[in-house]
Amino acid sequence: MKSSTQVFKIGTGNLEEVIKTAAQFIKKGGTVAFPTETVYGLGADALNPDAVRKVFKAKGRPLDNPLIVHIADQEQLGMVAMEVPDSAHVLMDAFWPGPLTLIFKRKDIVPDVITCGLDTVAVRMPDNPIALGLIKEAGTPIAAPSANISGRPSPTTAEHVIADLSGRIDVVIDGGAVRVGVESTVVDMTPEIPVLLRPGRVSIDEIREYVGKVLVGYTDRQAGAGEAVRSPGLKYTHYSPETRLVLVSGNSSAVVDKISELAREYRDRNIRVGLLVTDETAGTEEMAEYLLADGVFLLGSRYDAYEIASNLFAGLRYLDLEDVDVIIADGSIGIDGIGAAVMNRLKKAADELIEVN
Ligand code: AMP
Ligand code: MG
Repeated sequence: MKSSTQVFKIGTGNLEEVIKTAAQFIKKGGTVAFPTETVYGLGADALNPDAVRKVFKAKGRPLDNPLIVHIADQEQLGMVAMEVPDSAHVLMDAFWPGPLTLIFKRKDIVPDVITCGLDTVAVRMPDNPIALGLIKEAGTPIAAPSANISGRPSPTTAEHVIADLSGRIDVVIDGGAVRVGVESTVVDMTPEIPVLLRPGRVSIDEIREYVGKVLVGYTDRQAGAGEAVRSPGLKYTHYSPETRLVLVSGNSSAVVDKISELAREYRDRNIRVGLLVTDETAGTEEMAEYLLADGVFLLGSRYDAYEIASNLFAGLRYLDLEDVDVIIADGSIGIDGIGAAVMNRLKKAADELIEVN
Protein backbone atom coordinates (compact mmCIF):
# COMPACT_ATOMS: atom_id res chain seq x y z
CA MET A 1 0.00 0.00 0.00
CA LYS A 2 1.13 3.55 -0.78
CA SER A 3 2.06 5.62 2.23
CA SER A 4 1.38 9.05 0.77
CA THR A 5 -0.69 10.41 -2.06
CA GLN A 6 0.33 13.65 -3.78
CA VAL A 7 -2.46 16.09 -4.60
CA PHE A 8 -1.93 18.52 -7.48
CA LYS A 9 -4.50 21.27 -7.71
CA ILE A 10 -5.09 22.83 -11.12
CA GLY A 11 -4.79 26.62 -10.86
CA THR A 12 -4.04 29.42 -13.28
CA GLY A 13 -1.23 28.54 -15.61
CA ASN A 14 -0.13 25.23 -14.08
CA LEU A 15 -2.14 22.77 -16.22
CA GLU A 16 0.78 21.73 -18.42
CA GLU A 17 3.17 21.28 -15.54
CA VAL A 18 0.70 19.18 -13.50
CA ILE A 19 -0.08 17.00 -16.52
CA LYS A 20 3.65 16.47 -17.19
CA THR A 21 4.34 15.43 -13.61
CA ALA A 22 1.28 13.15 -13.39
CA ALA A 23 2.07 11.56 -16.77
CA GLN A 24 5.47 10.52 -15.40
CA PHE A 25 3.68 8.48 -12.73
CA ILE A 26 1.52 6.79 -15.39
CA LYS A 27 4.58 6.01 -17.51
CA LYS A 28 6.33 4.44 -14.52
CA GLY A 29 3.38 2.18 -13.80
CA GLY A 30 1.79 4.32 -11.06
CA THR A 31 -1.81 5.31 -10.34
CA VAL A 32 -3.26 8.77 -10.95
CA ALA A 33 -6.79 9.96 -10.17
CA PHE A 34 -8.00 12.66 -12.57
CA PRO A 35 -11.23 14.43 -13.48
CA THR A 36 -13.21 13.47 -16.57
CA GLU A 37 -16.49 15.12 -17.58
CA THR A 38 -18.47 12.26 -15.97
CA VAL A 39 -16.79 11.38 -12.63
CA TYR A 40 -13.19 11.21 -11.37
CA GLY A 41 -11.28 8.22 -12.77
CA LEU A 42 -8.41 6.24 -11.28
CA GLY A 43 -5.95 5.83 -14.12
CA ALA A 44 -3.06 3.52 -14.97
CA ASP A 45 -1.21 2.61 -18.18
CA ALA A 46 -3.72 0.32 -19.91
CA LEU A 47 -0.93 -1.64 -21.60
CA ASN A 48 0.89 -2.41 -18.34
CA PRO A 49 -0.78 -5.29 -16.44
CA ASP A 50 1.11 -4.59 -13.20
CA ALA A 51 -0.08 -0.98 -13.22
CA VAL A 52 -3.66 -2.05 -13.94
CA ARG A 53 -3.55 -4.53 -11.05
CA LYS A 54 -2.75 -1.62 -8.71
CA VAL A 55 -6.03 0.02 -9.74
CA PHE A 56 -8.05 -3.08 -8.82
CA LYS A 57 -6.18 -3.32 -5.52
CA ALA A 58 -6.56 0.35 -4.53
CA LYS A 59 -10.32 0.24 -5.22
CA GLY A 60 -10.92 -3.23 -3.81
CA ARG A 61 -12.54 -3.94 -7.17
CA PRO A 62 -13.55 -7.53 -7.95
CA LEU A 63 -11.17 -8.97 -10.54
CA ASP A 64 -14.01 -9.99 -12.84
CA ASN A 65 -15.28 -6.43 -13.38
CA PRO A 66 -13.51 -5.08 -16.49
CA LEU A 67 -12.16 -1.55 -16.93
CA ILE A 68 -12.85 1.11 -19.54
CA VAL A 69 -9.83 2.14 -21.63
CA HIS A 70 -9.60 5.91 -22.13
CA ILE A 71 -8.03 7.22 -25.33
CA ALA A 72 -7.12 10.63 -26.74
CA ASP A 73 -7.19 9.94 -30.49
CA GLN A 74 -8.24 7.49 -33.20
CA GLU A 75 -4.76 6.00 -33.37
CA GLN A 76 -5.11 4.72 -29.82
CA LEU A 77 -8.49 3.20 -30.73
CA GLY A 78 -6.73 1.26 -33.47
CA MET A 79 -4.21 -0.02 -30.92
CA VAL A 80 -6.81 -1.69 -28.71
CA ALA A 81 -9.91 -2.40 -30.85
CA MET A 82 -10.55 -4.69 -33.82
CA GLU A 83 -13.60 -4.66 -36.09
CA VAL A 84 -14.91 -1.15 -35.54
CA PRO A 85 -18.27 -1.19 -37.36
CA ASP A 86 -19.56 1.79 -39.38
CA SER A 87 -22.29 2.39 -36.83
CA ALA A 88 -19.58 2.90 -34.19
CA HIS A 89 -17.88 5.50 -36.37
CA VAL A 90 -21.19 7.33 -36.63
CA LEU A 91 -21.53 7.34 -32.84
CA MET A 92 -17.92 8.41 -32.31
CA ASP A 93 -18.36 11.31 -34.74
CA ALA A 94 -21.49 12.37 -32.90
CA PHE A 95 -20.45 11.91 -29.27
CA TRP A 96 -16.65 11.76 -28.91
CA PRO A 97 -14.98 13.21 -27.03
CA GLY A 98 -17.83 12.58 -24.60
CA PRO A 99 -19.60 10.36 -22.08
CA LEU A 100 -20.18 7.36 -24.35
CA THR A 101 -18.25 4.08 -23.93
CA LEU A 102 -18.25 1.64 -26.84
CA ILE A 103 -17.40 -2.06 -26.66
CA PHE A 104 -15.41 -3.69 -29.45
CA LYS A 105 -13.60 -6.93 -30.17
CA ARG A 106 -10.22 -6.44 -28.58
CA LYS A 107 -6.67 -6.73 -29.83
CA ASP A 108 -4.15 -9.00 -28.11
CA ILE A 109 -2.13 -6.04 -26.86
CA VAL A 110 -4.89 -5.34 -24.28
CA PRO A 111 -3.93 -7.16 -21.07
CA ASP A 112 -6.35 -9.81 -19.78
CA VAL A 113 -6.56 -8.05 -16.43
CA ILE A 114 -8.40 -5.12 -18.10
CA THR A 115 -10.98 -7.21 -19.93
CA CYS A 116 -11.14 -9.91 -17.25
CA GLY A 117 -10.45 -12.44 -19.97
CA LEU A 118 -13.31 -11.27 -22.24
CA ASP A 119 -12.61 -11.02 -25.97
CA THR A 120 -13.97 -7.46 -25.94
CA VAL A 121 -12.68 -4.10 -24.73
CA ALA A 122 -14.60 -1.02 -23.58
CA VAL A 123 -13.25 2.30 -24.93
CA ARG A 124 -14.08 5.96 -24.60
CA MET A 125 -12.59 9.39 -25.32
CA PRO A 126 -13.31 11.69 -22.35
CA ASP A 127 -14.35 15.31 -22.91
CA ASN A 128 -12.08 16.97 -20.38
CA PRO A 129 -8.82 18.82 -21.13
CA ILE A 130 -7.06 17.40 -18.06
CA ALA A 131 -8.00 13.81 -18.95
CA LEU A 132 -7.13 14.22 -22.63
CA GLY A 133 -3.88 16.04 -21.79
CA LEU A 134 -2.83 13.30 -19.39
CA ILE A 135 -3.50 10.51 -21.90
CA LYS A 136 -1.59 12.38 -24.65
CA GLU A 137 1.35 13.22 -22.42
CA ALA A 138 1.57 9.66 -21.07
CA GLY A 139 1.55 8.43 -24.68
CA THR A 140 -0.57 5.40 -23.84
CA PRO A 141 -4.26 4.55 -23.43
CA ILE A 142 -5.26 4.85 -19.76
CA ALA A 143 -7.50 2.33 -17.99
CA ALA A 144 -9.67 4.24 -15.55
CA PRO A 145 -12.63 3.06 -13.50
CA SER A 146 -14.25 5.55 -11.14
CA ALA A 147 -11.81 6.67 -8.42
CA ASN A 148 -13.78 5.40 -5.44
CA ILE A 149 -13.63 2.36 -3.18
CA SER A 150 -15.61 -0.29 -5.04
CA GLY A 151 -19.32 -0.14 -4.28
CA ARG A 152 -19.30 3.43 -2.89
CA PRO A 153 -20.85 6.36 -4.76
CA SER A 154 -18.59 7.53 -7.60
CA PRO A 155 -16.47 10.61 -6.85
CA THR A 156 -17.46 13.92 -8.41
CA THR A 157 -14.85 16.04 -6.60
CA ALA A 158 -11.19 15.51 -5.68
CA GLU A 159 -12.24 15.57 -2.00
CA HIS A 160 -14.37 12.46 -2.61
CA VAL A 161 -11.36 10.72 -4.17
CA ILE A 162 -9.12 11.68 -1.27
CA ALA A 163 -11.70 10.49 1.26
CA ASP A 164 -11.73 7.03 -0.36
CA LEU A 165 -8.23 6.50 -1.74
CA SER A 166 -5.72 8.68 0.11
CA GLY A 167 -2.66 6.59 0.92
CA ARG A 168 -3.65 3.95 -1.65
CA ILE A 169 -2.73 5.74 -4.91
CA ASP A 170 0.17 7.90 -6.14
CA VAL A 171 -1.49 11.10 -7.34
CA VAL A 172 -4.79 12.99 -7.34
CA ILE A 173 -5.23 15.82 -9.87
CA ASP A 174 -7.75 18.23 -8.38
CA GLY A 175 -9.58 19.86 -11.28
CA GLY A 176 -12.67 20.90 -9.30
CA ALA A 177 -16.17 19.43 -9.50
CA VAL A 178 -17.05 17.42 -12.61
CA ARG A 179 -19.75 18.52 -15.05
CA VAL A 180 -21.96 15.47 -15.72
CA GLY A 181 -21.90 13.61 -12.40
CA VAL A 182 -22.94 10.10 -13.50
CA GLU A 183 -20.78 7.56 -15.32
CA SER A 184 -20.67 7.17 -19.11
CA THR A 185 -23.29 5.41 -21.18
CA VAL A 186 -21.99 1.94 -22.18
CA VAL A 187 -23.00 0.41 -25.53
CA ASP A 188 -21.87 -2.97 -26.82
CA MET A 189 -21.13 -2.59 -30.55
CA THR A 190 -20.18 -6.23 -31.14
CA PRO A 191 -23.69 -7.65 -31.87
CA GLU A 192 -25.51 -6.78 -35.10
CA ILE A 193 -27.85 -4.53 -33.12
CA PRO A 194 -26.05 -2.42 -30.48
CA VAL A 195 -26.94 -3.17 -26.85
CA LEU A 196 -27.15 -0.50 -24.13
CA LEU A 197 -25.38 -1.94 -21.07
CA ARG A 198 -25.43 1.10 -18.79
CA PRO A 199 -27.50 4.30 -19.05
CA GLY A 200 -25.57 7.57 -18.76
CA ARG A 201 -25.40 11.16 -19.97
CA VAL A 202 -25.99 10.10 -23.59
CA SER A 203 -29.55 8.77 -23.67
CA ILE A 204 -30.84 5.76 -25.60
CA ASP A 205 -33.02 8.07 -27.70
CA GLU A 206 -30.00 10.13 -28.73
CA ILE A 207 -28.16 6.94 -29.75
CA ARG A 208 -31.17 5.68 -31.71
CA GLU A 209 -31.23 8.92 -33.69
CA TYR A 210 -27.87 7.94 -35.15
CA VAL A 211 -27.95 4.14 -35.44
CA GLY A 212 -31.62 3.16 -35.43
CA LYS A 213 -32.37 0.10 -33.36
CA VAL A 214 -30.68 -0.28 -29.95
CA LEU A 215 -31.51 -3.05 -27.47
CA VAL A 216 -31.65 -2.55 -23.70
CA GLY A 217 -29.28 -4.93 -21.93
CA TYR A 218 -29.43 -3.69 -18.34
CA THR A 219 -31.89 -3.74 -15.47
CA ASP A 220 -32.21 -1.19 -12.69
CA ARG A 221 -32.31 -3.78 -9.98
CA GLN A 222 -29.28 -5.62 -8.62
CA ALA A 223 -28.65 -8.90 -10.46
CA GLY A 224 -28.51 -11.99 -8.22
CA ALA A 225 -25.16 -13.60 -7.39
CA GLY A 226 -25.47 -16.58 -9.73
CA GLU A 227 -27.29 -14.72 -12.49
CA ALA A 228 -25.76 -14.41 -15.97
CA VAL A 229 -25.31 -10.75 -16.95
CA ARG A 230 -24.26 -9.16 -20.23
CA SER A 231 -21.90 -6.70 -18.62
CA PRO A 232 -19.83 -8.11 -15.77
CA GLY A 233 -20.10 -4.93 -13.70
CA LEU A 234 -23.87 -5.23 -13.54
CA LYS A 235 -23.84 -7.88 -10.85
CA TYR A 236 -22.15 -5.78 -8.18
CA THR A 237 -23.58 -3.41 -5.62
CA HIS A 238 -22.89 0.11 -6.78
CA TYR A 239 -23.16 3.70 -5.72
CA SER A 240 -24.20 2.78 -2.20
CA PRO A 241 -23.90 4.90 0.90
CA GLU A 242 -23.24 2.92 4.07
CA THR A 243 -26.42 4.28 5.60
CA ARG A 244 -29.63 2.43 4.76
CA LEU A 245 -31.30 4.07 1.74
CA VAL A 246 -35.03 3.98 1.09
CA LEU A 247 -36.05 5.18 -2.37
CA VAL A 248 -39.60 6.39 -2.95
CA SER A 249 -40.51 6.56 -6.64
CA GLY A 250 -43.65 7.35 -8.60
CA ASN A 251 -45.68 10.44 -9.40
CA SER A 252 -44.64 13.54 -7.56
CA SER A 253 -47.58 14.15 -5.23
CA ALA A 254 -47.72 10.50 -4.15
CA VAL A 255 -43.96 10.58 -3.54
CA VAL A 256 -44.24 13.70 -1.38
CA ASP A 257 -47.06 12.11 0.67
CA LYS A 258 -45.07 8.90 1.17
CA ILE A 259 -41.82 10.66 2.10
CA SER A 260 -43.53 12.83 4.72
CA GLU A 261 -45.38 9.78 6.09
CA LEU A 262 -42.12 7.81 6.36
CA ALA A 263 -40.28 10.76 7.90
CA ARG A 264 -42.99 11.03 10.58
CA GLU A 265 -42.94 7.28 11.31
CA TYR A 266 -39.17 7.21 11.63
CA ARG A 267 -39.15 10.29 13.81
CA ASP A 268 -41.78 8.77 16.14
CA ARG A 269 -39.48 5.78 16.53
CA ASN A 270 -36.46 8.02 17.27
CA ILE A 271 -34.79 7.00 14.04
CA ARG A 272 -32.70 9.85 12.64
CA VAL A 273 -33.70 10.69 9.09
CA GLY A 274 -31.68 12.13 6.20
CA LEU A 275 -33.60 13.49 3.23
CA LEU A 276 -32.27 13.43 -0.34
CA VAL A 277 -34.98 15.43 -2.09
CA THR A 278 -35.74 17.58 -5.11
CA ASP A 279 -36.30 21.32 -4.65
CA GLU A 280 -39.99 20.90 -5.49
CA THR A 281 -40.52 18.17 -2.88
CA ALA A 282 -38.70 20.26 -0.29
CA GLY A 283 -40.90 23.24 -1.16
CA THR A 284 -44.22 21.53 -0.36
CA GLU A 285 -46.28 22.24 2.72
CA GLU A 286 -46.25 18.57 3.74
CA MET A 287 -42.47 18.60 3.96
CA ALA A 288 -42.06 21.88 5.84
CA GLU A 289 -41.71 20.33 9.29
CA TYR A 290 -39.22 17.71 8.07
CA LEU A 291 -36.76 20.17 6.61
CA LEU A 292 -35.43 20.42 10.13
CA ALA A 293 -34.69 16.70 9.81
CA ASP A 294 -31.31 15.42 10.94
CA GLY A 295 -29.82 15.87 7.48
CA VAL A 296 -31.20 17.38 4.27
CA PHE A 297 -29.61 17.51 0.82
CA LEU A 298 -31.34 19.31 -2.04
CA LEU A 299 -30.78 17.58 -5.39
CA GLY A 300 -32.04 20.41 -7.59
CA SER A 301 -35.16 20.66 -9.69
CA ARG A 302 -37.08 17.49 -10.52
CA TYR A 303 -37.51 18.96 -14.02
CA ASP A 304 -33.78 19.27 -14.57
CA ALA A 305 -32.31 15.77 -14.45
CA TYR A 306 -28.93 17.16 -15.58
CA GLU A 307 -28.74 19.26 -12.43
CA ILE A 308 -29.81 16.27 -10.32
CA ALA A 309 -27.19 14.04 -11.98
CA SER A 310 -24.43 16.50 -11.11
CA ASN A 311 -25.50 16.60 -7.44
CA LEU A 312 -26.52 12.97 -6.86
CA PHE A 313 -23.29 11.31 -5.69
CA ALA A 314 -22.25 14.33 -3.62
CA GLY A 315 -25.64 14.11 -1.91
CA LEU A 316 -25.26 10.41 -1.11
CA ARG A 317 -21.80 11.06 0.32
CA TYR A 318 -22.95 14.11 2.28
CA LEU A 319 -25.83 12.30 3.97
CA ASP A 320 -23.61 9.31 4.69
CA LEU A 321 -21.41 11.58 6.80
CA GLU A 322 -24.37 13.14 8.63
CA ASP A 323 -25.51 11.52 11.84
CA VAL A 324 -28.55 9.75 10.38
CA ASP A 325 -29.83 6.17 10.57
CA VAL A 326 -31.74 6.13 7.31
CA ILE A 327 -31.77 8.17 4.11
CA ILE A 328 -35.07 8.69 2.31
CA ALA A 329 -34.48 9.48 -1.37
CA ASP A 330 -36.90 11.28 -3.66
CA GLY A 331 -37.53 9.28 -6.83
CA SER A 332 -40.01 11.70 -8.43
CA ILE A 333 -37.63 12.17 -11.33
CA GLY A 334 -38.61 11.55 -14.96
CA ILE A 335 -36.60 8.99 -16.94
CA ASP A 336 -36.16 11.11 -20.07
CA GLY A 337 -32.59 11.84 -21.16
CA ILE A 338 -30.13 11.55 -18.31
CA GLY A 339 -33.07 10.88 -15.93
CA ALA A 340 -32.82 7.16 -16.83
CA ALA A 341 -29.23 7.15 -15.54
CA VAL A 342 -30.19 9.03 -12.36
CA MET A 343 -33.00 6.60 -11.51
CA ASN A 344 -30.76 3.62 -12.41
CA ARG A 345 -28.09 4.77 -9.93
CA LEU A 346 -30.66 5.53 -7.22
CA LYS A 347 -32.31 2.12 -7.62
CA LYS A 348 -28.96 0.35 -7.44
CA ALA A 349 -28.04 2.33 -4.34
CA ALA A 350 -31.36 1.62 -2.60
CA ASP A 351 -31.76 -0.99 0.14
CA GLU A 352 -35.53 -0.65 -0.19
CA LEU A 353 -37.62 0.58 -3.09
CA ILE A 354 -41.15 1.86 -2.46
CA GLU A 355 -43.19 2.53 -5.59
CA VAL A 356 -46.25 4.74 -5.11
CA ASN A 357 -48.80 6.21 -7.47
P1 AMP B 1 -16.61 1.71 -14.07
O1 AMP B 1 -15.20 1.55 -14.53
O2 AMP B 1 -16.77 1.53 -12.61
O3 AMP B 1 -17.25 2.95 -14.63
O4 AMP B 1 -17.40 0.50 -14.74
C1 AMP B 1 -17.12 0.13 -16.07
C2 AMP B 1 -18.31 -0.55 -16.66
O5 AMP B 1 -18.03 -0.97 -17.99
C3 AMP B 1 -18.69 -1.79 -15.87
O6 AMP B 1 -20.09 -1.83 -15.74
C4 AMP B 1 -18.19 -2.93 -16.76
O7 AMP B 1 -18.93 -4.09 -16.56
C5 AMP B 1 -18.35 -2.34 -18.15
N1 AMP B 1 -17.41 -2.98 -19.08
C6 AMP B 1 -16.10 -2.73 -19.19
N2 AMP B 1 -15.54 -3.52 -20.12
C7 AMP B 1 -16.54 -4.29 -20.62
C8 AMP B 1 -16.60 -5.32 -21.62
N3 AMP B 1 -15.55 -5.71 -22.29
N4 AMP B 1 -17.81 -5.88 -21.83
C9 AMP B 1 -18.90 -5.49 -21.17
N5 AMP B 1 -18.91 -4.53 -20.23
C10 AMP B 1 -17.74 -3.93 -19.95
MG1 MG C 1 -17.32 2.56 -10.82
